[in-house]
Amino acid sequence: MARHRNVRGYNYDEDFEEDDLYGQSVEDDYCISPSTAAQFIYSRRDNPSPFTETEEYDYKDTEHNNSSISSHQLTAVEKAQLASCLDHMKEVLGESLPEKEMVEAVLSSKFDVQQALDSVLAQEMKIKNEETVISGKATKGKTRDSQTTKIESDIVPKVTKMTVSGKKQSTGFEVPGVNAEENGNNVVMPQKGFSSGDANVSSGMTEVISKPALPSQIVQALEEQTTAPTPVKKSGKAKQQIDVKAELEKRQGGKHLLNLVVIGHVDAGKSTLMGHLLYLLGNVNKRTMHKYEQESKKAGKASFAYAWVLDETGEERERGVTMDVGMTKFETQTKVITLMDAPGHKDFIPNMITGAAQADVAVLVVDASRGEFEAGFETGGQTREHGLLVRSLGVTQLAVAVNKMDQVNWKQERFLEIVGKLGQFLKQAGFKESDVAYIPTSGLGGENLATRCQSSELTKWYEGKCLLEQIDSFKPPQRSVEKPFRLCVSDVFKDQGSGFCVTGKVEAGYVQVGDRLLAMPPNETCTVKGIALHDEPVDWAAAGDHVSLTLTGMDIIKINVGYIFCCPKEPIKVCTRFRARILIFNIEIPITKGFPVLLHYQTVSEPATIRRLLSVLHKSTGEVTKKKPKCLAKGQNALIELQTQRPIALELYKDFKELGRFMLRYSGSTIAAGVVTEIKE
Ligand code: GDP
Repeated sequence: MARHRNVRGYNYDEDFEEDDLYGQSVEDDYCISPSTAAQFIYSRRDNPSPFTETEEYDYKDTEHNNSSISSHQLTAVEKAQLASCLDHMKEVLGESLPEKEMVEAVLSSKFDVQQALDSVLAQEMKIKNEETVISGKATKGKTRDSQTTKIESDIVPKVTKMTVSGKKQSTGFEVPGVNAEENGNNVVMPQKGFSSGDANVSSGMTEVISKPALPSQIVQALEEQTTAPTPVKKSGKAKQQIDVKAELEKRQGGKHLLNLVVIGHVDAGKSTLMGHLLYLLGNVNKRTMHKYEQESKKAGKASFAYAWVLDETGEERERGVTMDVGMTKFETQTKVITLMDAPGHKDFIPNMITGAAQADVAVLVVDASRGEFEAGFETGGQTREHGLLVRSLGVTQLAVAVNKMDQVNWKQERFLEIVGKLGQFLKQAGFKESDVAYIPTSGLGGENLATRCQSSELTKWYEGKCLLEQIDSFKPPQRSVEKPFRLCVSDVFKDQGSGFCVTGKVEAGYVQVGDRLLAMPPNETCTVKGIALHDEPVDWAAAGDHVSLTLTGMDIIKINVGYIFCCPKEPIKVCTRFRARILIFNIEIPITKGFPVLLHYQTVSEPATIRRLLSVLHKSTGEVTKKKPKCLAKGQNALIELQTQRPIALELYKDFKELGRFMLRYSGSTIAAGVVTEIKE
């Protein structure tokens, strides 16, 4: 029902607009370009302190009294600088390192505290590495024993749990000089505390009902038609280099890390299924399980006992913040799985996007009960939308748990009926048949989860894998470890000790303790004081890892969910305007210039406007079939230009697949999937 805009009567082939600026260059005074951004990158090194040697006195008189440095004759200015540098270093390193060494580092770096920090941390790393080489394991050196141990214990983060909050925080980041009236549309000026939930898109606009009926292989085609990647320069780290690929092979006993998201319609049994699987794997002890059973019985929800396994984990993890995507870890024979339990309810799809954007593979849970599968699959159900979303977000391998098979007496006909319907849809959504496996399960009874079901009801017609075997046989995804470092923030919190923590998935490159990182868009640098992977402190983490970083040298207030931490030498681009190739889902009302949308990108959702419709493209060849269309209809492929309210950090799809994909939503429905083709500077 069109309330404000009546565009039903549009003739899609109408003449082009006269005033369309397609192909012309436009002044972008409101953009922060990478080159502009580069100017603001921390560069104290380039500007050595202009101190003058006027007044000389003995350093031992200062509050950082240390006889060992009394030989340093410092001016009053130098003394103040030294004191300030030492304070900063102590904030990062604690009291573990002898002050003498800190002083030496500060003086030899000419009062550049970051350089001084880098040098002491690099020194520590070097000593550690030498010790490792000498002894074949991490044996401490003779003279540095206690020191090194102390430093390690001090710089190791005290993070205990990882989280994916999925909440869409307001960024509070002002765009200098964004045109209030852009393209004839009211572009709301950014406000601090602006909440960017779906509800914020003009509610007066026409409602779009999402019922994806997809052209064949669309998402795949969308990806394939983007050009080959331009070579990305290797990250130029000054620090001690590690052979990440070799280290990755050795890590976790040679097991690959895999990020798995569980998706499906509400009540399909996702939490019960995964909770029961965790129980069967021994991740929950019998006593705790008994407690859940008693408590759920008391609460009149006995059937939710297994679902509570995940919920409880979430509660423990949340530190007072509501969790949207539960996250936990389990192991298969060849993999270490980070499990994300995404909310199935329609209202939580934005959170589900957050989870899916960070996943490598997915388990789609469908309810086999009569009528229930249909409810989840037809209009309004989340089965289709979730399937389409995960594929659009880059997930190519899928295990479909045809769940609650106990409810249909493990009937093969019902299983085949569901496989038939889903198979057709998933193929259309861009999944290769060979990358989708269907497993009959019962989350409640536990059949076919961790071990193959022995019941003759099932074995008489099913000889395939159980769910765990299927998860184990997923191909490990390619990790972009050779690209410059990128991490998208999914949660920010203050922990004990100095600095603060961010969690997120490393999308590219790798990070080591002691590294300097740049946060975008705020364009601020910080130092990595600690890294935790699956709650364990580690020295480094690489693409694909869900980590928690402890950061110092930056104010927590500057960082929000959706920001990207990157390598300062090769920063991510930041813009408010970019071009993209999009695939339009099953919308009822055509998209026109000025259409307001919510841009869902990684862990961020940002109000945006479709600024221009550049061309309609052929679905398979990508050729332009129509320039400057007046509107875009369902199923079409198109090139468009988007304008966001506030700057966002993103990459071209051809350079960083993971950071070049997004979804567009409008009025609570997903209306398109897109890939970034050009970033306007
Ligand atoms: P979610 O919303 O997808 O996470 O679903 P839940 O795990 O919360 O389960 C919803 C309801 O379905 C609960 O009452 C479960 O006990 C029930 N349920 C889950 N799996 C099965 C199953 O395999 N068989 C039967 N009969 N019920 C199940």
